[in-house]
Amino acid sequence: MTTTTARRSRTDLAHHHPRVCRTELGGWTWECACGGASARSRTTRLTWHQAFVGALIHSASICP
Ligand SMILES: [Zn+2]
Repeated sequence: MTTTTARRSRTDLAHHHPRVCRTELGGWTWECACGGASARSRTTRLTWHQAFVGALIHSASICP
């Protein structure tokens, strides 16, 4: 078992690393370092699962 080299940088522009966050309203949202975020308005509550799936879909996409 070998150890892979550490990540080159914290911001990997080839991939997305969205994170799911809890909003003040008690819902969930996700946002990414690339500036992406859940497209819904902030007043729309997402369930944790909805936010998680949205983040997954985003992380699977590559920046153009
Ligand atoms: Zn992103």
